[in-house]
Amino acid sequence: MSSLDTLKARLLEVDDLSNAAALLRWDQTTYMPPEGAPARGRQLATLSRLAHELFTNAETGRLLDAAAKETASLPFDADDASLVRVTRRNWEQSVKMPTALVAEFQEHSALSYQAWTEARPKNDFAAVRPLLEKTLELSRRTADCFPGYQHIADPLIDFSDYGMKASSVKQLFSELRAKLVPIVRAITSRPVADESCIRQHAPEADQLGFGVEVIRRFGYDFARGRQDKTHHPFMTKFSLGDIRITTRVREDEITDALFSTLHECGHALYELGIDRAYEGTPLANGTSSGVHESQSRLWENLVGRSRGFWEFFYPRLQQVFAKQLQGVPLDAFYKAVNRVERSLIRTDADEVTYNLHVMLRFDLELDLLEGKVAVKDLARVWRERFEADFGIPVPDDKNGVLQDVHWYGGPIGGAFQGYTLGNILSAQFFATAVKAHPGIPGEVKKGEFGTLHGWLRDNIYKHGAKFTAPELIQRVTGGPLTIGPYLDYLWGKYQPLYGLREEERLGAGVA
Ligand SMILES: [Zn+2]
Repeated sequence: MSSLDTLKARLLEVDDLSNAAALLRWDQTTYMPPEGAPARGRQLATLSRLAHELFTNAETGRLLDAAAKETASLPFDADDASLVRVTRRNWEQSVKMPTALVAEFQEHSALSYQAWTEARPKNDFAAVRPLLEKTLELSRRTADCFPGYQHIADPLIDFSDYGMKASSVKQLFSELRAKLVPIVRAITSRPVADESCIRQHAPEADQLGFGVEVIRRFGYDFARGRQDKTHHPFMTKFSLGDIRITTRVREDEITDALFSTLHECGHALYELGIDRAYEGTPLANGTSSGVHESQSRLWENLVGRSRGFWEFFYPRLQQVFAKQLQGVPLDAFYKAVNRVERSLIRTDADEVTYNLHVMLRFDLELDLLEGKVAVKDLARVWRERFEADFGIPVPDDKNGVLQDVHWYGGPIGGAFQGYTLGNILSAQFFATAVKAHPGIPGEVKKGEFGTLHGWLRDNIYKHGAKFTAPELIQRVTGGPLTIGPYLDYLWGKYQPLYGLREEERLGAGVA
């Protein structure tokens, strides 16, 4: 047996342990009764400790060295050469972290998540504050395993968006903010779109049923997946044959569950499209949180909030919600699902203001890690900054610092930049797909998604984590990540919707 085969067998065991942990986490966030939390935290700690020990021990290092020699003559993009390269990178990252710290963080995150699910509806930031303080301490200790960083957030950003740094994200965000703010100002100087047609009672079963109908057409394979309800929707994978999504439903808005379902379906299509030969290896993953998010946002927004999509699906939705949507024209509905306004909740935010929510969180993560903001002041600082950025007061912590699961279920640092990277990339990838296949928008109008899905699978999904995000973006689009296509997309869509004038794009003539 070659060293490469021995390495693969070992990676498969690591993968089994990690996926058992993922299944326990899925259960915790869907069906587990609350009092299961302490044992669940311990179980996750045990599994992550075993996985980490197995992956980081010296024998894995020796196998990697030997496998590197065996694959030295293969081209860069050969599967086996890529497996060794990507595994080596993960291994070098993992060996720097003590197993005890990894296990402690897992256990703490499980407890903290449980506390958050109870604290958020009660609006009780004080209940999670000590846990959040511990999260910050653990996040700093994790970052400190990688001495020599420029910014303490850099190692944490590296975990989710390899190759990005606090400085490069800051630079990108400031360029984007400068271009977005004039568009937000121009739109919000117009009357707010009427959303009363979607703000109507809509039974849960009907919302879920419609969502499932759409994602079947997108290509979500229920033989390899399922959908359940949760607090904060997510996608998870236990193998390439079992890729699940979760959603949430508020019955006071017709499209509430739908867009969350489309979003998570986008994440799932990425993982479902990975070459099944990569099963059980580090290649069987999305390559970065930014690229992952580009797929959820592409299917949710560039497809699911497009006019062409609704030309096909609106008559169908009108059948499902006959009483609510009778007499509501397509244009009124299309405007309602694309209303732009400054609002409190990131996950409900429109495509234009969404990134401002991300930037606020990213800045707060840096300030927390740097010690510029203390956890005890976080709720107050959140309210102050939100009001400064959005011009609306935050009525309570439920709608403020408690709204997102991230800091209560994982590290502080690296948790948010991927959302905006994803928005930018969603437009860059979509523009590239349409350039290759100009018929795609016409097919969307007919409820057909095969060409788009096939292009994404062949160019992005099937590679899994074989290429880093910068390598993949270059290969797919012929250039590096750039904000141009995203800004063109937003302007092309919202200029006619809100009757904006060309000079408003640059901020001229607007107070
Ligand atoms: Zn997402």
